[in-house]
Amino acid sequence: MALDVHLFPCLSDNYGILIRDRSTGLAATIDTPDAAAILTEAEHLGWTLSMILNTHWHPDHAGGNEAIKARTGAQIHGPVEVTRIAPLDREVLDGDKIMLGQTELQVIDTQGHTNGHVSYWVAQDHMVFVGDTLFALGCGRLFEGTPEAMWASLSRLAALPDDTLVYCAHEYTASNARFALSVDKDPQVAVRAADVFAARERGEPTVPTTIGLEKATNPFLRAVKLAPGLGTFSHDPALAFAAVRAAKDGFRG
Ligand code: ZN
Ligand code: FE
Repeated sequence: MALDVHLFPCLSDNYGILIRDRSTGLAATIDTPDAAAILTEAEHLGWTLSMILNTHWHPDHAGGNEAIKARTGAQIHGPVEVTRIAPLDREVLDGDKIMLGQTELQVIDTQGHTNGHVSYWVAQDHMVFVGDTLFALGCGRLFEGTPEAMWASLSRLAALPDDTLVYCAHEYTASNARFALSVDKDPQVAVRAADVFAARERGEPTVPTTIGLEKATNPFLRAVKLAPGLGTFSHDPALAFAAVRAAKDGFRG
């Protein structure tokens, strides 16, 4: 392992995620949901933030950029859309490699929730920071992107090794599990949903998840199997995905 990861609840249902390169001690925050909370956590850990890595421009992801930079001098990396709300030091694009000390993070374009949403993949540690693209048993809403774009993004994440740890930006898993149970009778989904409800009952996070677990149980990654049950008999996986997304958007569970 090249990276230490520290995950903590932030705002109402976000996660703060701090990472630190072991060999150099350089640290970064994935997104900036709450500047004060992030600075406090970093201080408790004794980690010095030198970098901000934004997944997308939404205020619960980039809203703390300026306050954290003012306090730490951290360099802000993110997709150009972040400049809708605050300046960037470096725009990132698909395929870019960013070094945090000795650790390489690769930028993956995962647009769909917003235009220019990116994920950060640490191949050597089998971990990926996915913002609001993929959630445990869910995926982000399509605020700016098309179903085709989001399906392509989810497919790129699904192609990562099964043991890849997936750090999502929100704790939405219990409500996602209620929806999954309503559309998918696979026993693995029932087992996982029970695990999720028990973990939340104990106040434990359900993040990180893994690519393998999501491929087996996430209704959006299983869209091609589930779409006929929702009345969509297309062979186009993006249309199957759109059907599951529409069902979730209308779900009141
Ligand atoms: Zn968002
Ligand atoms: Fe968000």
